[in-house]
Amino acid sequence: MRNVGVLSRLMPDEYVRSIYEIDLDGLWNRGKRLILTDLDNTLVPWNHPQVPEELADWLQMAHARGFHVCIVSNNGEARVEAFARASGLPAVAGARKPKSAGFRAALERFQLPADAAVMVGDQLFTDIQGANRLGMYTILVLPLDPQEWWGTKVVRMAERVALMMLYGRGLKRPHMVSDGRSKDGR
Ligand SMILES: [Mg+2]
Repeated sequence: MRNVGVLSRLMPDEYVRSIYEIDLDGLWNRGKRLILTDLDNTLVPWNHPQVPEELADWLQMAHARGFHVCIVSNNGEARVEAFARASGLPAVAGARKPKSAGFRAALERFQLPADAAVMVGDQLFTDIQGANRLGMYTILVLPLDPQEWWGTKVVRMAERVALMMLYGRGLKRPHMVSDGRSKDGR
């Protein structure tokens, strides 16, 4: 069934509430050396210019552990470069995820193969699908803020359907509350 292939391409290896729940030691022990991360709604709310202290601390921890961290964002050059400067992170802007070129540019920059990389992001159809196709380890996070670009809101509806199907195939919700739904309803 064609559906099965599409779904497995959307299946993240992990689903956690936020980057702060990522098991850095576990990733390191699996041979991961490069953390590629989406920007908007993964590291900070959409178009948010500042680097929160909690994020700065987390980045410091990841770097201290030995990881390279690089932003791979579909947002435009001006937005991404400003945040890259503020955070001190390298970045690929206008990445056009799920297309491969942006991911590949990031891998090339660090001279690492896809299986040494992790992709972290809040969107199934861009972050997870694109990175899965290249054989990266993928971590889905809950979006930080419901405030989003209108195009993303439309995609979220399809994403909810895909998530329901992925739950059916064994994906674990990141945080269960008593009614069996995740905190934000996903
Ligand atoms: Mg995002």
